[in-house]
Amino acid sequence: MNTFAFLEKSARQFPDSPALVQGGETVTYREFRDRALAIGGNLLASGCQPGDRVAFCLANSPRILELIYGCFAAGLVVVPVNSRLHAREIAYIVGNSGAKVLVHGPEYQAGIVANATLFADVARYCLQPADGAGLFQALVDGEHGLAQAADAKSEDLCWLFYTSGTTGKPKGAMWNHRMVRCVIMNYLADLHNIQPGEVVLHCAPLSHGSGIIALPTIARGGVNAITETASFDIDSLLETVARLRVSHIAFMAPTQIVKLLEDYRPGQHDISSLQAICYGGAPIYVDQLRQAIETFGPIFVQLYGQGESPITITGMSANLHRELLAAGDPRIGSAGRVRTDVEAHCVDARDNPLPPGQTGEVVVRGDVVMPGYWRNPEATAEALRGGWLHTGDVGYFDDRGFLFLLDRAKDMVISGGNNVYPREVEEAIILHPKVANCVVFGIPDDYWGEAVHAVVVAKSGETLTAKEIIDFCGEHMAGYKKPKAVDFVEELPVSGYGKILRREIREKYWVGHASRIGGGSGAKGPNS
Ligand code: AMP
Repeated sequence: MNTFAFLEKSARQFPDSPALVQGGETVTYREFRDRALAIGGNLLASGCQPGDRVAFCLANSPRILELIYGCFAAGLVVVPVNSRLHAREIAYIVGNSGAKVLVHGPEYQAGIVANATLFADVARYCLQPADGAGLFQALVDGEHGLAQAADAKSEDLCWLFYTSGTTGKPKGAMWNHRMVRCVIMNYLADLHNIQPGEVVLHCAPLSHGSGIIALPTIARGGVNAITETASFDIDSLLETVARLRVSHIAFMAPTQIVKLLEDYRPGQHDISSLQAICYGGAPIYVDQLRQAIETFGPIFVQLYGQGESPITITGMSANLHRELLAAGDPRIGSAGRVRTDVEAHCVDARDNPLPPGQTGEVVVRGDVVMPGYWRNPEATAEALRGGWLHTGDVGYFDDRGFLFLLDRAKDMVISGGNNVYPREVEEAIILHPKVANCVVFGIPDDYWGEAVHAVVVAKSGETLTAKEIIDFCGEHMAGYKKPKAVDFVEELPVSGYGKILRREIREKYWVGHASRIGGGSGAKGPNS
């Protein structure tokens, strides 16, 4: 079954209902289907063969979803590229995927021209007239549109999801139609049961988690609304929620929830329509989650996944958040329970399954897991050894099946022979009333091997000393886990997908020292 069938069905059931909305633009389900079939057919007519890769680097807009479904329709493999990447990074993904086509926005033209040789082998289509590129609209208007989508087998690839590549070059996690179908069904079954006409708002990049949540929305005949501003602006986000009666915000990184809490002015916009805000992609600290629920109600939905098992390892529905919070249950700080048609547990360094409560690497299997990395058999064999995806995330399941994530295996600090999980220290620091945000990591130390180090952002108008932070940690944890030193900064750098760039901050402390990254822990997941 071709994933396009979900759009076909919604277009038949709700032809005149809005499918994609941004600013003053509305695309109905009939128009969406027709535009996708046109794009797919015209890509084939331009020389693409089924199975060829089509990359895009676009700011959020309805064009992204039209292109994704155009690729599905034609049996092409879509390659979303993070729109915040540098032209050379874009070129790497285009080259590695062997994309025949790159669809991009006009804002990338200068970078592409400056690196023209890197893009010499790819046919380009731009949203606006640009030298060396065809016009995206020509793919919509061309005369070779398909009458219907091509047949596809469940194993046929339809998507390459490039990992963020924080410890090396990005790798393309291969997704096939079966996987995508399972991710769609699992989202509807476990996290939020989107209804026809329900408005789902995207304020995070559609090339990442938000784009995946657009798929169950389409399967159900919901409305995918997309914010207009490229930057994350709370006022315009909440104005859109009020204007469109948004019920579900598709995806927010924890850093965005923190910003939402900081900038929210109660009563300014009517947000009573909101039933669900989905978050994930990085840990949220329990205190921040509590504040968010107190402010906006029990509407938060957590997902934990990675490009290799997209948004689908464990999850916590809004109801489960509500129950745990009401009971004062510390499981509110977990990543929830394993999703319905997914198997997951933790393993030790020899891949032996661990009993509840014991810490190890999270491994996953099921139809939601990738069949491997694109043209990278070594990384595939390492990640999928024994038939289980090795996530590189360290944590433990408790006796009721809740997963507590500690950290990426590579982020664990080994100080004086003791393992310290940065997240545990961060969870304590964030409780300090003068702290807005923080990040913890290990730095080289002659005596300890590695010393626990914190970088802290104080709340605006507050001043703090390192001693205050260290003493505060001493009230919450064993001495060896306390930071040995603290630096203060105005803000923490975040990735294009809203994740705090712990390793970028950490790097300057390691100049001239051999970094232990990748070693030390029993968990040696290759994917990051
Ligand atoms: P990506 O492939 O870019 O989506 O990154 C996936 C990684 O983000 C995972 O392997 C985790 O380390 C982290 N992550 C995703 N969801 C969560 C979550 N709910 N809580 C904590 N970490 C998460």
